[in-house]
Amino acid sequence: MAHYSDELLEEVRSRNDIVDIISQYVTLKRKGRNFFGLCPFHNEKSPSFSVSPDKQIFKCFGCGKGGNVFHFLMNAENISFVEAVQILAERVNIELPKNSEDEDEKQVQLKNEVYKVNEAAAIFYHETLYKPTSKIAQEYVKKRKLGNNTLKAFLIGYAPMNNELFNHLKAKGFSTEAMLASNLIGRSEKGIYYDKFKHRLMIPIQDVRNRYIAFGGRVLDDSKPKYINSPEDIVYSKGRNLFGLNIAKRNSNGMLKRILIVEGYMDAISLYQRGITNVVASLGTALTDAQGRLLRRNAEQVILGYDADGAGQTAILRGMDILKNLGVDIRVLQISDAKDPDEYVIKYGADKFKKCMDDAISVVEFKVKILKQTLDLNNTNDKIKFLNEIAKTLASVDNSMEREVYIDKIGKTYGISTEAIQSEINKLTNKEPDKKKIENTSVIIKKNEEKQIDENILRREKMLIYLLINYSDKTFKRISSVVKSDYIQDSKNKEIIDKIFEKLKDNQNPEDALNWFEDQEIVSYLAGVLSNDFEINDVDKAIEDVEKTYLKEAKILRRDEIIEILKSPDLDKDEKANLEKELNNIIIDLVRMK
Ligand SMILES: [Zn+2]
Repeated sequence: MAHYSDELLEEVRSRNDIVDIISQYVTLKRKGRNFFGLCPFHNEKSPSFSVSPDKQIFKCFGCGKGGNVFHFLMNAENISFVEAVQILAERVNIELPKNSEDEDEKQVQLKNEVYKVNEAAAIFYHETLYKPTSKIAQEYVKKRKLGNNTLKAFLIGYAPMNNELFNHLKAKGFSTEAMLASNLIGRSEKGIYYDKFKHRLMIPIQDVRNRYIAFGGRVLDDSKPKYINSPEDIVYSKGRNLFGLNIAKRNSNGMLKRILIVEGYMDAISLYQRGITNVVASLGTALTDAQGRLLRRNAEQVILGYDADGAGQTAILRGMDILKNLGVDIRVLQISDAKDPDEYVIKYGADKFKKCMDDAISVVEFKVKILKQTLDLNNTNDKIKFLNEIAKTLASVDNSMEREVYIDKIGKTYGISTEAIQSEINKLTNKEPDKKKIENTSVIIKKNEEKQIDENILRREKMLIYLLINYSDKTFKRISSVVKSDYIQDSKNKEIIDKIFEKLKDNQNPEDALNWFEDQEIVSYLAGVLSNDFEINDVDKAIEDVEKTYLKEAKILRRDEIIEILKSPDLDKDEKANLEKELNNIIIDLVRMK
């Protein structure tokens, strides 16, 4: 992490409040001195993810991830440390020095050039669409009824037959390295460069920050494959982006009230053309956690608008699970007399479609509806099964008011008494504590198996780290003269303490301690240590205790060492006498210390 000075990192970190940054990803609730929320890095139902505004660190007690604001962004956006620093520096208008010798920095520069290559290509394709030689493409967009506004909004274009893009990019002075990395240009075995997309309608894919990251190319006739999309590369990861999100955001001020998610980008474009502008498309994958977080950050309500077929329903159920864990208000679009949203909006128009969005049903209602399709409620067995499943679904609704409403609604819709539903739910919710108890015991057993170093020693070592970082002024000189890193038994603690000694000797700010380590595991571990509450009432007393313990430890180690040396047969007399004297003194000291 030699790219930026510690001082600069401190400046960037201290000006980006961790609570502000994490709040963009996680709904945080204050509890005492800390904030808590559902961890964005693992699935959980009750919050074990904590953020400390005092210490400016986060720590998940579920999955163990932890660190400072840089580490949070690295994990949340799947980016390098350097990129996290750059984003946060930009956010608070701090200019970073350029260093072209650095490998990481080189990669970042290549990425930046690839974004520019992609942007130049998008503009080139778009302009080409309007040329007289692009008749076939023009006819296609006319057939799809895509107007000029839509073509401009998405910068839709046309990839011509020959290697015109390559010539265009070359003339603009882009490096061949960046052109190849963009995956728009290929190189034959003979070393000849060529355009990878030819004679296709080109849809640029942008990320939420309006950068051009990839392209989708659609054929203009019935040939196959119908779509070719950019492969994943240094700027494109399809599971982390949503097509159209930047455009949907452009039409709103900040947070969108609701957003519709559909399957393909052509669906999204078509809906946009018909006046549904808050629409995005997942990029050929089932909804991922990363996309879920992106939605959560940008919209209050997410409407799943997948097709009504079997695959669509599976996608809805999967999307629900992901979004639910993120605490998003999820709805499911219900349309009839059309196979997908696109067909519906063409048939019935935007107003009717918006009404469908208003009426989109909740997760519970959707699940019950699906259930109903597979069961015959005239059959007694099926009816019991139905009741059990409804109870299961409703038991997972935390809000009791909300649950009441559903019980009432479902009871009425399916002719089941509300008492029967309620009593099934009670059976389930009363059972739950037992289950939790069992889970907890198994965790404890596992922990005990892993334990090797004495619990007290581990705690003492962690306390030492805590004191060194939080009270370095008082502790560093005193402790570093007493504690040698050899006394530290746990290897992680030893690595951390060695580094702290090194950095504090160099007068570095201990508040930036988490930046001193590159190993993510160490960072998470250290964040955990720092999140500990050691209940230190009297700092001086705590330091004194640590000091004493280690003085004693040092004496014990020396005592054992002398005993070993004294066993040796070839000691001369003087040496032996000196060692015995020292040993005596140590033993007396140790007795006094007790
Ligand atoms: Zn977690």
